[in-house]
Amino acid sequence: MSKSHALFILYAVVVAVILGVLAGWFMAPLALKFSWMGTLFLNALKMVVVPLIIAAIISGISSLGDIRKLGIPGSATLIYFMATMMISATVGMLLTEILKPGHDFHMTSATAEINISQSVSMGDVLLSLISPNIIASATNFEILPLIVFSMIFGAALTVIGEKGRLVTDFFESLNNIMMVIVGWVMFLSPFGVFALVATPIAEAGGGEAVIATFSAVGSYMGTVFIGLIIQSILLFILLYLFAGLGLAYLRNMIPALITAMSTSSSSATVPLSMECAENSGIGREPIRLVIPLGSTVNMNGTAVYQGVATIFLAQVYGIDIDFSDHFLIALTAAMAAIGSAGIPQGGHVMTLMLFSVVGIPVEGFGLILAVDWILDRARTTLNVWGDLVGAAVIHRIMNGKNYFN
Ligand code: ASP
Repeated sequence: MSKSHALFILYAVVVAVILGVLAGWFMAPLALKFSWMGTLFLNALKMVVVPLIIAAIISGISSLGDIRKLGIPGSATLIYFMATMMISATVGMLLTEILKPGHDFHMTSATAEINISQSVSMGDVLLSLISPNIIASATNFEILPLIVFSMIFGAALTVIGEKGRLVTDFFESLNNIMMVIVGWVMFLSPFGVFALVATPIAEAGGGEAVIATFSAVGSYMGTVFIGLIIQSILLFILLYLFAGLGLAYLRNMIPALITAMSTSSSSATVPLSMECAENSGIGREPIRLVIPLGSTVNMNGTAVYQGVATIFLAQVYGIDIDFSDHFLIALTAAMAAIGSAGIPQGGHVMTLMLFSVVGIPVEGFGLILAVDWILDRARTTLNVWGDLVGAAVIHRIMNGKNYFN
């Protein structure tokens, strides 16, 4: 996509968000008439996600030529994912300890005591990686097993070398074709974003109804928002220190970030994230390595939210958490964020699992559920920002510099 087109889309999506909020807020019935535009945009994104992810990973890995070359960037990627998610959960927990939003509420439950006795079952995590039926996974939008399959396939391609040239070229072409389609889909984004922003506000009954719902748990929401902002800034500092990039990079990422905000889905945002990173000069290997995998594994926003939600509900139920428990909760929250799917409210199942592992009464989830649609949008934006920063950092590492500028 040309620079002028990219700039046009950037401004158009920003305007679309503003118009979407206004339409949903003041003209709910009218806004609802345009909800189909959001579905159309979402469907168009989902249409490209599966072939794009498969082609990007297979061609990305096979273009390394030798699977051993994946060693340093591969481990750096995993360390980046794990470290930033642990920090995210810690930011969320610390902030909640400081702001104490849960002290405004009081609930009791027979099961309310901290009890980090079980652990997240490693077996379950491993089982979710390998699909017995890769076609069924593709149909059900289960991205993680597709990524694992594509990585294995790409690795095997490097082993057979020249004999695999035909297949390597095929996936390289498929990737390029899908990226052309993504460029076309981007022209739909202002319309899609408008509808995706306006519809939920309108469905909730317009602006006043939304404010009424939010004010009930406003202190909790505020804590999540502040946590997400702090972690976004920390990632920005990381971007500056380790990739030598700053505001210009952030600005170029706005279409992807706004798409994340309006779709609440990291996986559906993959095509736009790849396009924006490519337009910013990030190399194809780091893009293909970090962004598809990051979209289901690296969830900074989800980890912040899970950290806040856990401590918030502990405060609501009057459960004491001591210092060492915090570390275990951060680790468990990071694992729970890894296990969350990159789809709207994909974090719910794992958040409930986190509550039961930590000993938070699961029924407390009801308190925070009503406002989750808006928090989901905010945390998905940070999830995608984490992947985009990761791609830039790994790009720098693959280009031979992995230290402060
Ligand atoms: N909606 C989030 C995402 O797609 C996942 C979640 O936290 O619910 O990244």
